[in-house]
Amino acid sequence: MRATNLHLKTLKEVPKSESSINAQLLIRAGFIEKLTSGVYNFLPLGLKVVDNIEGIIRTEMNKLGGQEILMAALQPKQNWEETGRWKTFNALFQVKSQYDQWYALGPTHEEIVTPLAQKYILSYKDLPLYLYQIQTKFRDEPRPKSGLLRTREFIMKDLYSFHTNEADLDKYYEKMKAGYLAIYKKLRLPVLLVEASGGTFSKYSHEFQVITESGEDIIYHCLHCGFSQNQDIVQNKKICPKCKHKLDRVTGIEVGNIFKLKDKYSQPFNLKFIDKNGQEKIVIMGCYGLGVSRLMGALAEIFHDDKGLKWPEPVSPFKYHLVPLFSGNSKDDKAVQKLTDTVYRELTKHNIDVLYDDRKDISNGEKLVDADLLGMPFRLVISSRTIKNNSVEIKNRATGVIKTISYKRL
Ligand SMILES: [Zn+2]
Repeated sequence: MRATNLHLKTLKEVPKSESSINAQLLIRAGFIEKLTSGVYNFLPLGLKVVDNIEGIIRTEMNKLGGQEILMAALQPKQNWEETGRWKTFNALFQVKSQYDQWYALGPTHEEIVTPLAQKYILSYKDLPLYLYQIQTKFRDEPRPKSGLLRTREFIMKDLYSFHTNEADLDKYYEKMKAGYLAIYKKLRLPVLLVEASGGTFSKYSHEFQVITESGEDIIYHCLHCGFSQNQDIVQNKKICPKCKHKLDRVTGIEVGNIFKLKDKYSQPFNLKFIDKNGQEKIVIMGCYGLGVSRLMGALAEIFHDDKGLKWPEPVSPFKYHLVPLFSGNSKDDKAVQKLTDTVYRELTKHNIDVLYDDRKDISNGEKLVDADLLGMPFRLVISSRTIKNNSVEIKNRATGVIKTISYKRL
């Protein structure tokens, strides 16, 4: 893509209202735009990152038997009254229509997916069933902060599993843990699997935490045996309960959580099935959340330096950022232009994602500053120094290593 078609505009100033690194960089680089407190618009570059993250998640969910659906964000109050959560759910967005109807803007979908599944689950032959969606969700946060890490509107993947018994749920839960770890590995995000409170219905749930200083969650972690627990449930915050070594206190960004719901939602919605012996039994459920827009924020928090973003290749909007540098010598500049056009044409022909900085009204220095800010994995520079051998200078954004190679070797 040509930068002029993208209407690429970067900002020099850090937005004053944003204190988090992820929002500062993503806004300055033109990936997102702030609409109001806790609500962001995703611009072309940002949407490409979202699409890439979603693609990685979809692949793993489909491997685990998930069927993708799309449920409503606008949810009748009655569904939330069935489970008692209309009054108890923390930060539930409640809206009243002009026709005196109350709705929730969905922060999660147990109240919708359980009665939905009830229409299709009749006997044990209909189980197990795995339904997931990637969708916009809402939370009425009192104080949105930390950029994309804590917002009022966000993109999330949620999968709900339905089973004949707890043993089958336990088995699937373990498969999902492995699936989540595979997703984080593809995203290049180092995560800790952390035990968290299971609420009233299970001993533990699990969170996936990216360990970083900017994280809001406090985790106690044992370097010796790997034991990790959320601060809310650690009994003794000094000594590891498993191996008695000293516990480390670290902070993290929660980028996923998985719960064994058991019959918490199938009971109120009377979700039952007929087993092999003709007996009516309650359906057992699990749920598995993964924040897509929050992952984008976490990636920006982890992969950046003082010059800008450093996207890992699997999520980067483009693999290459192609930058021609002009010297003012018209003969040289003509050759630079010609070689740059050739490289762009060849890469595009082979379906390789490349952002071509074809802007005419900015200086060489500004182009290079923007390339570092936008953070594509590889910067390609073509200048009077490289044209003689049909070469390009390639810089790895993550390592800073620069090499000069023939463009045919890209
Ligand atoms: Zn230990």
